[in-house]
Amino acid sequence: MLRQTHEWLAQEVDTIKDQRLYRQLRTISPSTLGRSYVDGMESIMASSNNYLGLAEDQRLTDEAVKIMKEYGVGSTGSRLTTGNTIWHEKLEKRIAEFKNEEAALIFSSGYLANIGVISSLAGEGDIILSDQFNHASIIDGCRLSRAETSIYGHLNMEDLQEKLIHSQHYKRRFIVTDGVFSMDGDIAPLREIKALAETYNAFVIVDDAHATGILGENGRGTSDHFDVSVDVIVGTFSKSIGTEGGFVTGSRALIEYLRNRARPFIFQTALPPSMMAATIKAIDIIETSPQLQDHLQHLIDYTRTELLNFGFDVRGERTPILPVVIGDSKKTMNFSKELENNGVFAPAIRPPSVPQGESRIRMTIMATHTKEDIQEICKAFYKVGKKFEVI
Ligand SMILES: *Cc1c(COP(=O)(O)O)cnc(C)c1O
Repeated sequence: MLRQTHEWLAQEVDTIKDQRLYRQLRTISPSTLGRSYVDGMESIMASSNNYLGLAEDQRLTDEAVKIMKEYGVGSTGSRLTTGNTIWHEKLEKRIAEFKNEEAALIFSSGYLANIGVISSLAGEGDIILSDQFNHASIIDGCRLSRAETSIYGHLNMEDLQEKLIHSQHYKRRFIVTDGVFSMDGDIAPLREIKALAETYNAFVIVDDAHATGILGENGRGTSDHFDVSVDVIVGTFSKSIGTEGGFVTGSRALIEYLRNRARPFIFQTALPPSMMAATIKAIDIIETSPQLQDHLQHLIDYTRTELLNFGFDVRGERTPILPVVIGDSKKTMNFSKELENNGVFAPAIRPPSVPQGESRIRMTIMATHTKEDIQEICKAFYKVGKKFEVI
């Protein structure tokens, strides 16, 4: 029986390989700022989500070590049993304050925060209107809820309106969108979404994973950037903030409800207190260091202009995510490999993460990159782009 299972799985893996969609792990180890060793070879790291460079900030490490020495490494239980500490509570207060919201709840990851929020808010008789390019964790949250899900075209407000008009018979309606889209680097038109939600009486859920620390005053996120308020903000500490964990902010009632209903909150062991303390430190740093964002924005603008001038199909807006669309997935894989041969690490993103024929290099810029790093990245793109006749 076991052997049969193995054969079946091996065949599935072969199919994945035939489709050239086989995924492999790379081993990353630290080097100097902005660089990493990838399988032992040093490269400029041009695909990390560590946009502000805080993941390797000594101040965060020192704080984590200090609290770890006091509390140990594990949290020992879920928040509702033995895992809750003053550090979890402090961070919830801190992130709510940072986001200008009444209250917050921490989850073990952004992935679980989305699953917890969507599956507990939306239920039978409800409908979720979800952007076509929303993150996988949103999609999984929709699947786990018992609500109907309807996908609207990426950023397509006419389509969203159409779907709102035709869904008035549902009990509750939720519009859910990424703030900044993870594979496209573009920004959801939150003002328009909010206006539609008000007209058609729907709730708005925004996944601010890539916007937190980047958009809005001091990196407060997408709603601050557009100066609108939404019903629910989901986020992660694992991108700009540089640590681990997910969060939800919103009204006190929302947070109280989630604490009682969101299964990934209730049934999962809490994150360690040391991680909470490091995260508070990171938010303090982000709030008091606008120069980090300024420097990053300067590097982003420079890179985008250079690559567009070379003739690349660069998607997205003024966010640290610069998707360079190559098209064919095999060609994109080779492009990425050749970038690596030129000292730049930026993996290819292929279907199903992106649509067929839109394979891309998802390049990201970090505040720890120097101008020289950026120039080197651009030079590598130019060289490889010419070689593969992409430009
Ligand atoms: C990364 C990401 C998540 C998941 O966050 P984790 O903390 O890594 O689990 C959720 N949504 C979006 C849009 C993301 O990019």
